[in-house]
Amino acid sequence: MNTLGIPLDYGTARGLPPQAEATLLVSIASNPDGREISLEPAAAAAWARMRDAAAADGLSLVAISGFRSVKRQDEIIRGRLSKGEKINTILRTMAAPGYSEHHTGRAIDLGAPGEPLLSESFALTGEYSWLVDHAHEYGFRLSYPRDNPHGIAFEPWHWCFEGV
Ligand SMILES: [Zn+2]
Repeated sequence: MNTLGIPLDYGTARGLPPQAEATLLVSIASNPDGREISLEPAAAAAWARMRDAAAADGLSLVAISGFRSVKRQDEIIRGRLSKGEKINTILRTMAAPGYSEHHTGRAIDLGAPGEPLLSESFALTGEYSWLVDHAHEYGFRLSYPRDNPHGIAFEPWHWCFEGV
């Protein structure tokens, strides 16, 4: 039963396909609050190559989050609802449980040293400019550019591995 107030036609209306949970994960880092960050193996290997290439160009890409279970997505949304946020507002910045690319272990949220986490200001960093120019060489694409058709806000930090 859908107890979050998510419209029944959410996936089709937003053009967001259901995303299956990864079955095989490898740890790539710990985030600042100590939570383990994992990706599926091919994405993890591509991420390591991309991070090292950026470092060779003098830029520090920092992993902020990777795999997230359907259950965890549900918990996060419930937490925000309990603080009084409206579901439509939440769904501007998060996919509904079952529709997040983070479930697949192929999506990674990235930041740069000294930058606020998951902020549109990441788009002003050299790290972001580097990603725009080079991420595709490592099989990553920006999932939610400005004015994307999915009704999700511009997320310059969210990159998804789709292979090269
Ligand atoms: Zn993300």
